Parts: sequence; structure tokens; C-alpha cells
Amino acid sequence: MERSTRQRTAIRDAIEAAGRPLSPQEVLEVARLQVEGLGMATVYRNLKLLLDDASIALVQLPGDGPRYESSVHDHHHHFQCKQCQRVFDVHQCPGDLSKLAPPGFSVERHEITLYGQCKDCLSAAPATSAPSKSAVHNHPPTGH
Ligand SMILES: [Zn+2]
Ligand SMILES: [Zn+2]
Repeated sequence: MERSTRQRTAIRDAIEAAGRPLSPQEVLEVARLQVEGLGMATVYRNLKLLLDDASIALVQLPGDGPRYESSVHDHHHHFQCKQCQRVFDVHQCPGDLSKLAPPGFSVERHEITLYGQCKDCLSAAPATSAPSKSAVHNHPPTGH
């Protein structure tokens, strides 16, 4: 396979296998495992080409850099972890939100982003369960 084709395939595969939107840096980290010496400029160039032919889709969260996901997804939403900044897919949808719009307005589409902490970050958080209260607190001796 030609090197440029190999690069593009590795980049598209990385995004499809991720199952969540990837930042260009994340794409580089995964695709580099397939294509040695892959650089950021090449990743950007191929992301643009893949976007142009609709092989991948752009995910643009407010106030954040571009991310890329598989274009074969149905309507879905996203969750961003404020700790690791990774973005995940949310497959639940509240459905028709048109009654939230001002009276007389027509809603055409919606985007929903949830923010919080992902499972990995939550389980990596320092354990808050202290061994036992009696070890921590010095109870005054009872009795007279
Ligand atoms: Zn996280
Ligand atoms: Zn929805």
C-alpha cells in the first residue's frame, strides 16, 4: 500500500475504533502505532481530506478544539470529562425539545453536552473512605 494511503487508513481506523470523538493529538497517538514516524501535520492534512469526503465527522464542543468521530453514527450526544478532557458518546436523547423554545419559535435541531467526570477519573480519585472512625477520633475516656 502506498504510504499516503496507509496513513489515511490508519487515521480513519483510529477514529472508527475509538468509539468516541478524538482530538488530533489522540488521533496521532493511536495512528502512530500503525504508521511509524507519523507527524501532526500529516494527521491534520488527512483529517481534512477525510472530512471532505465525509468519512469522518467533526465534533465541535463550545470553547474547545475540534474533535473527530466516525460519520456512521446516528443522532447522539456527548459527555466531556472535566478532569481528563476526553469526550465520550451519549446514546440517550431526551427527544423533542421544541417546547423549550420561546412561543412561536421553530426548533430544527439540538446538541447536548454533559460535563462531569468519567468513570476512569472517578475511580482514580484518592479513596475517601477512612479506615475506621475510632482510629481517627480520640474519644475522651468515659467513666469517673
Ligand atoms: Zn476522565
Ligand atoms: Zn438528541
